[in-house]
Amino acid sequence: MSVINDVIAKVKTKDPQEREFIQAVEEVMHTLEPTVAKHPEFVKAGIYERIVEPDRTIMFRVPWVDDKGNVKVNRGFRVQFNNAIGPYKGGLRLHPSVNLGIIKFLGFEQIFKNSLTTLPMGGAKGGSDFDPKGKSDMEVMRFTQSFMRELFRHIGADIDVPAGDIGVGGREIGFLYGYYKKIRNEHTGVLTGRALEYGGSLVRPEATGYGAVYFAAEMLATRNKDFKGLRVAISGSGNVAQYAIEKVNHLGGKPITLSDSSGCIVDEEGIDAQKLAYVQDLKEIRRGRIKEYSEKYPKAKYYDGKSVWDVIKEQGLKIDVAMPNATQNEINEELAKGLVKAGCFCVSEGANMPSDLAAIKVYQSNNFLYGPAKAANAGGVATSGLEMSQQSQRLYWSREEVDQKLHGIMKSIHKQCLAASEAYGQKGDYLTGANIAGFVKVAKAMLAYGIV
Ligand code: NDP
Repeated sequence: MSVINDVIAKVKTKDPQEREFIQAVEEVMHTLEPTVAKHPEFVKAGIYERIVEPDRTIMFRVPWVDDKGNVKVNRGFRVQFNNAIGPYKGGLRLHPSVNLGIIKFLGFEQIFKNSLTTLPMGGAKGGSDFDPKGKSDMEVMRFTQSFMRELFRHIGADIDVPAGDIGVGGREIGFLYGYYKKIRNEHTGVLTGRALEYGGSLVRPEATGYGAVYFAAEMLATRNKDFKGLRVAISGSGNVAQYAIEKVNHLGGKPITLSDSSGCIVDEEGIDAQKLAYVQDLKEIRRGRIKEYSEKYPKAKYYDGKSVWDVIKEQGLKIDVAMPNATQNEINEELAKGLVKAGCFCVSEGANMPSDLAAIKVYQSNNFLYGPAKAANAGGVATSGLEMSQQSQRLYWSREEVDQKLHGIMKSIHKQCLAASEAYGQKGDYLTGANIAGFVKVAKAMLAYGIV
């Protein structure tokens, strides 16, 4: 049995209930097959076995009191997966679906993504099954303070630097950092995604969405195309979706969809800057539902309980580019086939693992330009890395400077993916290229340390 199959089998036996983690391990490990023959030293040092086992898994109780005085208890997680190339780095997710398997899949993916950014960051992820939807600001504050009351002892500017993810935006980072500062009595770069007033970086809020569009633009250029006039389907309506829309508009494309967990909208006239400003107010300030978009703009259609990908398949919508920007496993085989029928030829993943393994096969067999999450959405963590650099230098860079660096990093990730795919015999396969390029750097660092 090859070492790759052996590692996958062991993960399945040890953690059979961790569905998403097993999926992520399978996706990465199969593409690493060409590294086995080329690097016998990795096999000898047990790198493949070691890289699927987190350095450390922290799980804790998060008790808090709601506005009515009831005691509530959630479960908190921080999985510090691998710090071979730098301090642990990865977001915190607050969503009722959060469990250990989801946090482990996200932490595992983060190792390779962070390596690809070219910056010195290890991989980690954390969060809780707390649902911020429908909670008051004070409830969110009490929860995040209780969460930090345990997390603070495991993190630090040179140890582990968390950031935002689903359900963790500016408000939550503010509460988390405020409480950390209070109990540690220090002002350091321990969290990223902060507001400008207390150590944040310009362009960090935009970075993941912008980056995924920059990556798509690089892929399009390999076929002498650009965004001008292309119809773009975007799912989600949070941080990543909003700034993907902004950048698609900048580049002359036409974003036509948005969604949340209740349903989706299709706006054939395009979601322009003015409509986007409405969505940002709706989602970030009023914390409303995407359904309200079709009440404000009656020409847009709302589909209750449907995802963007359901509607494309069922309504025969025509699209060129798909950007899944909501959550994992949004697109399965059937929905991917719907994309093929819709005329789509490019997928750039803003969300983490939004396409399942069968969907990826459909993209590959139809010669899609397929930008996998760990390459396409790495702009967020890369800009978090730039925020850390600014913090340590006590300097702030201009918007143009950060955006230029972000753009340069996305181009470099694209180049690394192509170069690795070619060097390992899978030319043009961005998934294999991203996994191998991310892995080899981490594996070499692990090798240098001996067996630790
Ligand atoms: P937000 O919380 O800002 O937005 C998430 C969006 O996705 C919301 O519209 C939400 O709808 C929707 N959504 C979440 N879960 C589900 C679900 N189970 N089913 C349907 N819709 C869902 O998160 P972000 O925009 O930050 O994150 C989106 C994706 O991008 C995630 O996969 C995240 O891991 C990834 N990502 C984010 C980065 C960042 O910098 N923020 C960096 C790299 C990746 P609703 O409001 O109804 O829940």
